[in-house]
Amino acid sequence: MPDIDYRLSQQLLLRTDLPGPRSRDLAARRRAAVGACVASVVPVYAADADGGVIVDVDGNSLVDLGSGIAVTGVGASNPVVAAAVREQATRFTHTCFMVTPYEEYVAVAERLVALTPGDHDKRAVLFNSGAEAVENAVKIARHATGRNAVVAFDHAYHGRTNLTMALTAKNVPYKDGFGPFVPEVYRMPMSYPFREPPAPDGTTVTGAQAAARAIDLMDKQIGVRRIAALVLEPIQGEGGFIVPAPGFVPTLAGWARAHGIVFVADEVQTGLARTGAWFACEHEGVVPDLTTIAKGIASGLPLSAVVGRADLIDEVHTGGLGGTYGGNPVACAAALATLDQMRDLELCDRARRIEELARPRLQALADDVGIVGEVRGRGAMLALEFVRPGTREPNPEATREIAARALEHGVVVLTCGTYGNVIRLLPPLVIPDELLSAGLEVLENAIRAT
Ligand code: PMP
Repeated sequence: MPDIDYRLSQQLLLRTDLPGPRSRDLAARRRAAVGACVASVVPVYAADADGGVIVDVDGNSLVDLGSGIAVTGVGASNPVVAAAVREQATRFTHTCFMVTPYEEYVAVAERLVALTPGDHDKRAVLFNSGAEAVENAVKIARHATGRNAVVAFDHAYHGRTNLTMALTAKNVPYKDGFGPFVPEVYRMPMSYPFREPPAPDGTTVTGAQAAARAIDLMDKQIGVRRIAALVLEPIQGEGGFIVPAPGFVPTLAGWARAHGIVFVADEVQTGLARTGAWFACEHEGVVPDLTTIAKGIASGLPLSAVVGRADLIDEVHTGGLGGTYGGNPVACAAALATLDQMRDLELCDRARRIEELARPRLQALADDVGIVGEVRGRGAMLALEFVRPGTREPNPEATREIAARALEHGVVVLTCGTYGNVIRLLPPLVIPDELLSAGLEVLENAIRAT
């Protein structure tokens, strides 16, 4: 990564206990005005952020190992992105692409068509959120195939709209009490190597075997000719940073292709340099029919996309997809600048370097303490799965305690996982080495102390 001039000092500095008095005041105001249904991971309120730090309203400078859930890869106040947003906002903030179109939308589509895997004829359509992208990918697949059934996998997370809730696996907190859910969504077993029981002959189940198991169930329980789409995260995010066994994703994608089923790679969390490639599917040479993209694309301005086969996307009748804000010009300006910065700062390389720095440390720690069952992930998408000592039983209590302890010492980490027992690391890709190291040290101490 070329040298970066950070605006804020890249250091961990605590001036108060966390949360400090101003954060506590804001929490009191929040309780009286904001719905309690919205949760926040950390109880401190942000005032400023840059590179790998978030400065809170009490002047504490925290290490950010979450990037606002994999969003601020180029930093939360990247100057090139900020300038592009400012420039666009001074010209126009909205016309609605469905009313008076503009170049920025077209330019984002061109970039995504070129960046996504495969050199076949592709198109892109822009939306506002990850869930909206996934939902529209399903609409495209259903329309283009004339089929109804949609397949998602155990531990999947695809969003919180009605259709994407149905695709999402975990009940609490995402689905509980919010049904009924849409019909024709089927769930298949995932490849989760750490929790995969051995095959009957005692061998480790391969990715191809795990895919064959899902394929057999789809054939028997749904009927191959009824399936419009398989929706799969190439590395599962909210479900626990589950990296399927090699071969799982390519086998499913190949089978889907052979049967006219649309293979949708949900790269909302894995996409855009996070795993050390532009898209996680590239690691196994998979070319999805449709890719959903959000989070990292516009540094936090609401923007998402469905990108993929022109024959599928253009099969939908004109006016069939869209929305008032989809591809908002300010969000598009942010996306173009974000993509430029990812290229110019060589952030795919940087993500791999973050893995080189962090993974051996985390693995050494895991080998030393009894509660880390597995260290896994790719690039700057790394995770620790916590277990009870000497078992594979999930240990969500220790996980919560470690995350709370890390925060107490100024490091923001996120948890995830079906069993709530995974700490995930998603640092901004522009975090300097020393700050990453300081953040990891706090995390390591929190783990040892637990
Ligand atoms: N798909 C995946 C893989 C995600 O990780 C997320 C968000 N965590 C979504 C979809 C939904 O995105 P959004 O929150 O922008 O609707």
